[in-house]
Amino acid sequence: MNLLRLAICIFLMIPVALARPLHAQAAGKDFVVVIDAGHGGHDAGAPGAVTNEKTVNLAVANLLGARLKKEPGIKVVFTRTDDRFVTLQGRANMANKADGDLFISIHTNSVDAKSKNRTTVRGSAVYTLGLDRTDDNLAVAMRENSVMKLENDYSTTYEGFDPNSAESYIIFELSQNKHMQQSVTAAQAVAKELAATAGRKNNGVRQANFWVLLKTAMPSMLVELDFICNPTEEKFLASRSGQDKLAKAIYNGVMDYYNRVNKKPRRQDERKTTVKQPEPKASAKVSDADDDSGRIVYRIQFMTAPKQLRDGSREFKGLKNVDSYSERGMRKYTYGTYSSPAEASADLRHVKTLFPDAFVIKMKGGKRVY
Ligand SMILES: [Zn+2]
Repeated sequence: MNLLRLAICIFLMIPVALARPLHAQAAGKDFVVVIDAGHGGHDAGAPGAVTNEKTVNLAVANLLGARLKKEPGIKVVFTRTDDRFVTLQGRANMANKADGDLFISIHTNSVDAKSKNRTTVRGSAVYTLGLDRTDDNLAVAMRENSVMKLENDYSTTYEGFDPNSAESYIIFELSQNKHMQQSVTAAQAVAKELAATAGRKNNGVRQANFWVLLKTAMPSMLVELDFICNPTEEKFLASRSGQDKLAKAIYNGVMDYYNRVNKKPRRQDERKTTVKQPEPKASAKVSDADDDSGRIVYRIQFMTAPKQLRDGSREFKGLKNVDSYSERGMRKYTYGTYSSPAEASADLRHVKTLFPDAFVIKMKGGKRVY
């Protein structure tokens, strides 16, 4: 095939690859689970004393795939089935090309060699893409994202993103996460099973910014099976029976999610919020975003200004329910109050129609928490 025809062919294929039907199964299509064994080849991942991360991830991924393949209506796609290096972007591309319905990236956790709790830390955690920038979660994301540095031209491929710079993570805030609710539902099912079926300590469903999740256009999760730096947990991770339990646990979680999405049509993701025109309330000041109870809340930050604006200001473009807080000499304006990032993300897309750079922040006691 000459180059021009090839180019046209690829061009024509792009819209097909990007357009995903909302009810994938309704069209008689299989439910596609993309299984991504983290690391591989010259990227060993976190080291253990008797094994390493890439080996554990691959064993669990293959066992999980073998179980899921037996299920009618489910199609399994692997990003790797042997010990080879696959780029982060390459993994996401494979998942998108397969038109996946669920993406599961399998990893093994570890903490820094200097950490005091290195040999005692334990438990599994399931991550979805999100804005919870606590130090622990950011450290996990930085470690998993930093494998991109093993690629020669990583700076170009990853758009100048530096996995070790906290500032770089702003690109995640500017992206929209369309599949958050479904991702969290699937992740919760898997997290529950990792405890119930594989006997892992449950460190819960968490949010962090992983490149591989950002670039997969489907509900997705990243599973940290357990800590390979803890000798007791490593023994379990390295054993065939341990790997089988972990695979079974993830399989149970996936089937739970699969049965849910198949019983009833998938929800039309987010509820709608209508943005009404403001009633003029020229004298009222915008309220301070003080949460005296000290509980964690989520808000949608949509604007920063050097001065205090009045409620109903034209600058708010008709948004009501506006709060603000002060940070580094600037006044930052937020919309709504939510108890979870998932809840906030439902309204985020509507706020984004007015303020495209809006993003979700976490707050405690009237201050932003990073
Ligand atoms: Zn990893």
